[in-house]
Amino acid sequence: MDSNEGFAPVTNVDVLIVGGGMAGGMLAAALANTELTIAVVDAAQVPEFPHGDAEVRVSAITEASFNMLTNVGAWQHLPQDRLSPYSSMDVWDADGTGRVTFDAASARASQLGWIIENSAVTAALYSVCQTKNVDWRASSKITSIVASSEGWSATLESGEKIITTLLVGADGARSQVREKAGIAAAPKDSGHRAIVATIETELAHGGCARQRFMQTGPLAMLPLFGDGHRFSLVWSTSPELAQALMAMTDEEFSSALTIESEGVLGACREITKRAAFPIHTLHASEYAGPRLALIGDAAHVVHPLAGQGINLGFLDAAVLSEEIHKAMQRGIRIADETVLKRYQRRRRAHNALMLKSLNGIKHLFAVRDPAIRFMRNVGMSLVNKLPPAKAFFASEALGRNGDLPQLALRELKPE
Ligand SMILES: Cc1cc2nc3c(=O)[nH]c(=O)nc-3n(C[C@H](O)[C@H](O)[C@H](O)COP(=O)(O)OP(=O)(O)OC[C@H]3O[C@@H](n4cnc5c(N)ncnc54)[C@H](O)[C@@H]3O)c2cc1C
Repeated sequence: MDSNEGFAPVTNVDVLIVGGGMAGGMLAAALANTELTIAVVDAAQVPEFPHGDAEVRVSAITEASFNMLTNVGAWQHLPQDRLSPYSSMDVWDADGTGRVTFDAASARASQLGWIIENSAVTAALYSVCQTKNVDWRASSKITSIVASSEGWSATLESGEKIITTLLVGADGARSQVREKAGIAAAPKDSGHRAIVATIETELAHGGCARQRFMQTGPLAMLPLFGDGHRFSLVWSTSPELAQALMAMTDEEFSSALTIESEGVLGACREITKRAAFPIHTLHASEYAGPRLALIGDAAHVVHPLAGQGINLGFLDAAVLSEEIHKAMQRGIRIADETVLKRYQRRRRAHNALMLKSLNGIKHLFAVRDPAIRFMRNVGMSLVNKLPPAKAFFASEALGRNGDLPQLALRELKPE
């Protein structure tokens, strides 16, 4: 695989994945059983499992994502005592009487999903890759990427070159790969900042994920592992309010949260340092270019209000790996335009719909018009009384709808 060209080492691979976050890690793990040579380059250090208190960056993982993580062998590596399954959801309108509650039983499931620390997921995917044909370069930054006759040539900070047949950009919202490929993706400011922190509560969460929609943005309380009295907060709000909340003392912030959560979990106490992120959304105009594909946040960034970002990113990775597997079975080159365009067709429309829906929900709750606010509350109350509507929402939360790749469907038997 390696050769020397002057002083700088040169490595040739079939697939180079730039970015070893959750999306890049999933693609590497999904391709790890093939005869392809795969390299993952990530600027961050070797992923490590979290210890002690819960990390503030967590994700709500759907059943489809659970299937993908299980089928690539990563779920088995996750620290089971740090997973937080949730079996119900309670979503309500701060500005009226509208409320929708639904549970896993309405979709014949034992849980609607799991809250998992992002670092645990990345470490589990990394563990899978360590046992397979994946050359994972941690603490390595790509400094330049140029198209070459064989595909692409990427230069690392160390000076080493990696020449690849297929280049995958899994390098997040500010993707360098996307930029080098000249793919447009103008970020849009959602007008929200997200404040995240771990919160201890007086009352037990009971395995319920809660979200209160306010005019300034949604406040999500995601149940965490432990004694049942901790949740992960994602409070999306206006820049002005976010600034004021970030400037508060711990006591002031905790009491503001107790009030804004309507005391559903009793008194709240912040137990970690809070952090604030600007929320930008974006959608790449193309997911595929010459011998190149984008996955995860490099291709799309959605508002966190429905906890869908990485669930979509996992589906990108699983569909791309499925198309690569199919191409190999048919003797087609893995970076052939038809293979990559098929991936794009299967994923882009689905993600575009999600971006649009989340944008619609955000605007629906931001309106001041009393007639719309009245209709919104009536609509929510109506949905809450209709078992088929509730079953539909539960099924959406589980990630069961849409064109799912095999990896997302069920636990596959090892061949
Ligand atoms: C507040 C908040 C809450 C969220 N909650 C949820 C949720 O509940 N459920 C959900 O599904 N999603 C959620 N999301 C979204 C989710 O976190 C993202 O979709 C996900 O982390 C994106 O993963 P990724 O692997 O695509 O990109 P990233 O996590 O951004 O990873 C990109 C990787 O690329 C590497 N990299 C970048 N540039 C280079 C380079 N030049 N060279 C080498 N390496 C490079 C970085 O080191 C990084 O490891 C949330 C997001 C936010 C902000």
